[in-house]
Amino acid sequence: MIFKGVTLLSHNQYVYLLVSSHTRRCPFLSSSQPWTSVRVRCSNLNKVVVNATGPVSDTLRQMATPSVPKRMRHSKGAHILLPLEVFPTKDALLIPKTEDGRVLSAVPWGGRLLVGTTDEEIDADAELVVTDKDIEYLLRHINHYLTRPVTPADVVSGFAGARPLIASGDQDSTKELARDDEIEIDDESHLISIMGGKWTTHRAMAEDSINAVQEAAGIARTESLTRNHVLYGGEGFTDNYWKRLVRQFHISDETAHHLSCKFGIAAESILRLTADNAELAEPMVAGYPAIKAEVIYAVRQEMAVTIEDVLARRIGLQMYSWRDAIDAAPVVGWLMA
Ligand SMILES: Cc1cc2nc3c(=O)[nH]c(=O)nc-3n(C[C@H](O)[C@H](O)[C@H](O)COP(=O)(O)OP(=O)(O)OC[C@H]3O[C@@H](n4cnc5c(N)ncnc54)[C@H](O)[C@@H]3O)c2cc1C
Repeated sequence: MIFKGVTLLSHNQYVYLLVSSHTRRCPFLSSSQPWTSVRVRCSNLNKVVVNATGPVSDTLRQMATPSVPKRMRHSKGAHILLPLEVFPTKDALLIPKTEDGRVLSAVPWGGRLLVGTTDEEIDADAELVVTDKDIEYLLRHINHYLTRPVTPADVVSGFAGARPLIASGDQDSTKELARDDEIEIDDESHLISIMGGKWTTHRAMAEDSINAVQEAAGIARTESLTRNHVLYGGEGFTDNYWKRLVRQFHISDETAHHLSCKFGIAAESILRLTADNAELAEPMVAGYPAIKAEVIYAVRQEMAVTIEDVLARRIGLQMYSWRDAIDAAPVVGWLMA
């Protein structure tokens, strides 16, 4: 898929990095997953490669120059989701200091209460799942603030991931490591690595990366477009946009809210799919506002390849309810096929 002049690939793993002994640059060869059968070869030896692989940045850095010391430390973060009724508020709760000196929060999100997070140093290849221990830790703290204590049976879903933290000095604990990003241009290969950072600083990370590309490629630095870039679906969006969807497509308020929050003005592209096939206007699963047309859109426009891409990374039903995601999986698989 080409978007704004960028060729995008989904499920394509960067497995090999060739450093030219002539230019000391690293064009890349990317081997694909079997089902996409796409191979990418960067033939221009003066191209600059940016390594933006988050927690696994060291793997790419060492593919380019095996002798570079590792920089990443991995901190596992686990979140759980609870029914919003356990803490019926529009406000978020911040617990500034837990018994072991961490910050916890409980935030209304997507119709659920998102409670997190843990912070535990892990190895690079550790399995990232929400464990019983994570659930016990989060519930023990949140229960101090709830009128009805919650139990593990109340947990409707959860997720865990590895934070990409950068080692700098001799901090013992990942809690003490800064969440700032850092750009490294490798002297040997000229590989540019953007390491660390946060979701909330993604625009600054993009700006730093492109500045580094221009520097490494020896081209003039241009003003960043990132700061004012409106995200896809945001152009012309207003808080009342959902009402227009209700009027124009005769859908429920809940589905209109869901579609406008998730896709902005691109919601219309999804609803237009239902004109030729009324079944696509049906809910993906009873009791959740997502409709079947979103699956088609995820495959055609958002490069979803697997059922999990759709349920976890595009529509987010897996974050809302593990049980609903299990029920929806066969429907999603059938629509994708
Ligand atoms: C549980 C949890 C909660 C968090 N909460 C927050 C929060 O509330 N606010 C906040 O600001 N930040 C939060 N963060 C931090 C945030 O997720 C990261 O800082 C951010 O995702 C880093 O972005 P990135 O693009 O550098 O890396 P990633 O988002 O990790 O992206 C790296 C990408 O590289 C791909 N990749 C890896 N290896 C290869 C390869 N060999 N070939 C091709 N592709 C590859 C991966 O598939 C991935 O898509 C949280 C992190 C965790 C784990």
